[in-house]
Amino acid sequence: MELLYNSTRSKKQPITASMAILQGLSEDGGLFVPDHIPQLDKSLEELSGMTYQETAYEVMKLFLTDFTEEELKDCIAKAYDSKFDTREIAPLVYAQNTYFLELFHGSTIAFKDMALSILPHLLITSARKNKVKNDIVILTATSGDTGKAALAGFADVDGTKIVVFYPKNGVSPIQEKQMVTQKGANTCVVGVTGNFDDAQTGVKRIFGDKEFAKEMAEKGYQFSSANSINIGRLVPQIVYYVYAYAKLLANGEIQNGEKINVVVPTGNFGNILAAYYAKNMGLPIGKLICASNDNKVLYDFFQTGVYDKNRQFVLTSSPSMDILISSNLERLIYRIAGENAEKTAELMAALSGEGKYEITDAMWQELKDFYGNYASEEETAGMIKKIYDSCGYVIDTHTAVAAAAYEKYVAESGDNTKTVVASTASPYKFTRSVMSAIDAKYDTMDDFALVDELSRISGVTVPNAIEEIRTAPVLHDRVCDKTEMAEAVRKFL
Ligand SMILES: *Cc1c(COP(=O)(O)O)cnc(C)c1O
Repeated sequence: MELLYNSTRSKKQPITASMAILQGLSEDGGLFVPDHIPQLDKSLEELSGMTYQETAYEVMKLFLTDFTEEELKDCIAKAYDSKFDTREIAPLVYAQNTYFLELFHGSTIAFKDMALSILPHLLITSARKNKVKNDIVILTATSGDTGKAALAGFADVDGTKIVVFYPKNGVSPIQEKQMVTQKGANTCVVGVTGNFDDAQTGVKRIFGDKEFAKEMAEKGYQFSSANSINIGRLVPQIVYYVYAYAKLLANGEIQNGEKINVVVPTGNFGNILAAYYAKNMGLPIGKLICASNDNKVLYDFFQTGVYDKNRQFVLTSSPSMDILISSNLERLIYRIAGENAEKTAELMAALSGEGKYEITDAMWQELKDFYGNYASEEETAGMIKKIYDSCGYVIDTHTAVAAAAYEKYVAESGDNTKTVVASTASPYKFTRSVMSAIDAKYDTMDDFALVDELSRISGVTVPNAIEEIRTAPVLHDRVCDKTEMAEAVRKFL
């Protein structure tokens, strides 16, 4: 059955998946959403015997209906290959009464690789299908992990260029080093003096600038986005929830049809939205537990029905979640508003005007499957230490936020449903914060000494992504003000 995409903000002619991937964002500023959520057409039993790649095909074919079987299988094969350091792609690890779904085995050791290793292939295929002649220029704002994963995915891909903006003082030292050492003549990395929201707003402004788009088109360029607003990012993320469930079933950890809960450390709301879509496809998921750090705008939203970004932006040890405008929440808003684009547009206008909006009671009723909580810096560090001390397993700061929020959920609800925690980054990406949480004596060691010490205490080999940057030269040192971002793009092209 054909599936088309609508904008969350106006009723226009729906477009194909490949066009939605190419465009990234709708012209009216809305996000593309599927016109219906397809149902899984393979049984859980059948899925439980499949590899990651096979599962990916079964899920993605339902959303990308204008891709041929051959095209989609080709994209999947190119994405989920030996770039991942395990054939399972996304292994489950049992620790502390929960299953950690390790989504960080790709080339940049964060969960962004799950989608960004396939997005370039989906994009190139989409361009070919729609006879696009221009070079595609990917513009991306990153809170740390998207940037490197997108750079790795697009570096030296013919017919593409990529520009990444990151908050100059808002990412971890290892995240920054990973980005500024990126090779590839088609790559450009720029630090922005501001926070992630400034960078993201700047990128959105460039996308909305019709004059600039015209100028670039004359030079043979067209913009697209690798941010999590692109449905080419969202769809591949649904896969691992289906895969995790199927693996639990295959391993006899759950009964066929038994509900599981899912906990997701959340920033831009893309990952947890993928879990919500998986649930709506018929995957037996109970609660969707949304975990925030001190930037707890989502916790307050689930608590009160008011989304209010007017507050102090806090820099935390889980920087990829330091976000006050969770872009993908708009897709949930659209759905709980009964797919009402007018209502969604009204709320989003309030968000960009007054910085806040309030949902209706009827919408509020539709949020029953969600539960929000948050973890302070102290609770996050405490959770890393607690899990390490009890079983020797080392988790990163983002995953620790999720584990701590989950602990609060269980204490409040007494719900003992089997639970999967999305483990979104390798502890090696946030070595300093992780090691300080385990023992204050590590505070004086330098970054790479800490890396070796982490390997020693966890028994996990240092990933390639870290080995590579030990000695790599800095290739990008550009910094610009948030008002100069378009100019930076112009200079690079
Ligand atoms: C991006 C990221 C998140 C947040 O994911 P969203 O999809 O933006 O909610 C959490 N943890 C890590 C490590 C990330 O890189």
